[in-house]
Amino acid sequence: MQVIFLGSPGVGKGTMAKLVQEKLDLVQISTGDLLRAEVKNQTELGKQAKGHMDSGGLVPDEIVIAMLKARIGRPDCQKGYILDGFPRTIPQAGALEAEGVKIDVVINFVAAKETIILRLSGRRTCKQCGAIYHLVNLPPQVESTCDVCDGPLFQRDDDKPEAIENRLKVYEEQTAPLIDYYKDKGLLKDIAADESSEVILPGLLEILGEA
Ligand code: AMP
Repeated sequence: MQVIFLGSPGVGKGTMAKLVQEKLDLVQISTGDLLRAEVKNQTELGKQAKGHMDSGGLVPDEIVIAMLKARIGRPDCQKGYILDGFPRTIPQAGALEAEGVKIDVVINFVAAKETIILRLSGRRTCKQCGAIYHLVNLPPQVESTCDVCDGPLFQRDDDKPEAIENRLKVYEEQTAPLIDYYKDKGLLKDIAADESSEVILPGLLEILGEA
């Protein structure tokens, strides 16, 4: 099964993808995580992507599409995957089709703007393993320290207020048109995402079970 998780930054797609991948034995492919790994390893791709990411803008389509194609071609993806944060533009969606990828369902996560801003501004990420926490909703057991690997937690540059505003604007302009794009193809299912992950999960699994 191939699934797309669509929705604004901070709506909880990544958190839900992590929970669903364990339950349904799918691979979570987060283009944001892939790009952050490239930046961390100071690769050529990472150097090209960093400025766009820090300001909250999108990395150019050709870079992200090439990276995504390489990832879905790896053997672990044969069991099916969740695309978390891809596609983010109409040309990216077109690239998936050109690649012959059959999408079973597109989940559109919908939450109020206030929920999204609170989630993004409180988010903290482990520098070592990438685990995600939230100052209020999901604090680590020891302050600023990852429960999983003891790594230090930090606030992503793009989770700071100036970048958040830009990311939400970019979402509206470039990514939200994908809602109608997939609705027209009969693939879109909305899910209310204001509540906690425990509340959202059963309805999400039900939709995926029917897809
Ligand atoms: P995320 O972790 O999904 O919020 O992604 C963090 C940042 O990575 C975004 O703000 C973009 O700069 C970049 N990014 C992630 N996925 C994409 C994509 N599909 N297309 C373009 N840029 C992306």
